[in-house]
Amino acid sequence: MENKKELRNWLNQMNLAHPLVIAGPCSAETEEQVLTIAHALKKTDTTVLRAGIWKPRTRPGNFEGVGALGLKWLQRAKEETGMLTTTEVANAHHVDLALKHDVDILWVGARTTVSPFIVQEIADALKDTDKIVLIKNPVNPDLSLWLGAVERFYSAGIHQLGVIHRGFSTYEKTRYRNNPEWQIAIDLQNRFPDLPLILDPSHIAGRRDIIFDLCQTALDLNYDGIMVETHHDPDNAWSDASQQITPDTLKQMTIDLRIRKEVGDAVEFNNKLATLRTKIDVIDHQLIEILGKRMKIADQIGELKRANNVAILQSKRWNEILGRMILEGEEHLLSEEFILRIFKAIHQESINHQKNTVSLEEKSLQ
Ligand code: PEP
Ligand code: MN
Repeated sequence: MENKKELRNWLNQMNLAHPLVIAGPCSAETEEQVLTIAHALKKTDTTVLRAGIWKPRTRPGNFEGVGALGLKWLQRAKEETGMLTTTEVANAHHVDLALKHDVDILWVGARTTVSPFIVQEIADALKDTDKIVLIKNPVNPDLSLWLGAVERFYSAGIHQLGVIHRGFSTYEKTRYRNNPEWQIAIDLQNRFPDLPLILDPSHIAGRRDIIFDLCQTALDLNYDGIMVETHHDPDNAWSDASQQITPDTLKQMTIDLRIRKEVGDAVEFNNKLATLRTKIDVIDHQLIEILGKRMKIADQIGELKRANNVAILQSKRWNEILGRMILEGEEHLLSEEFILRIFKAIHQESINHQKNTVSLEEKSLQ
């Protein structure tokens, strides 16, 4: 699939003065809940009401959604508020029911994007309809799998497409429920600048307090919209309670977020600069993380050397690393002088770490 301007026609046609806001509960719970939230969201910048009808749960035993019944509630919310609606579809049967109930936008969940068979089944079920389809990133950090899903829909004649960035799962627990790995979304944006990109801060965060910052980063990176889980009584939500915010909080958030509109030369310059700076911030954050990981391994080497009574400094190994890095650096247009300086600093920090582990262990033995 090449980059095509038509991909964003549906978004341009909405003619919004601000990035697209999709909001609503993680799950439709009762008719009253859906309608209460929909009416509260009507007073915010929300254009599209979301609600999960069939919930993919990682572990069985959690609330699995109300099923087709909830589609009637979404339909009623649309009639009463005029908002568009969206829900997740995970097989051809869901598509059939969603089409019958006039759902405007369908989204493909992270656990579905990983499976080309199911993605194909959904794409075939939608063949030649004019539905808008938003594809969440797969649970694992794999850009090709994500793009592959987009291509399957495009080839089935569905050209009103967009992608939702909801983060990637990791085995280690981090501050996020799903690690954002911004670089993957930035790569996708560079390859398909006309494919609308929407952030789902709720599933990245898994908690309320960092949703604002995630949205701000996305806007600084020129994302086209946000999809935020919103509930009138978040603490008592039947699913994903800890990450949902109230419609009032959402409203305040959209007021506080800095949205950069591209008008005029100076503004355009500042916008571009801010976007590039945010990209640099993402990479700097990765650099620190990776250096931290390297030092943890240095600590382990320190322990191993102490246990075997081996000297910390091993000049032969160090010279080999340096030689290899200078050659690799050349391939990435990094000067020898820069590589030498950076690796000397890294090496020194590793030695300090190893010394620390050695002396800490010696102290604990005394
Ligand atoms: C959701 O949006 O409620 C959902 C289940 O999302 P994901 O597929 O990103 O986990
Ligand atoms: Mn959810």
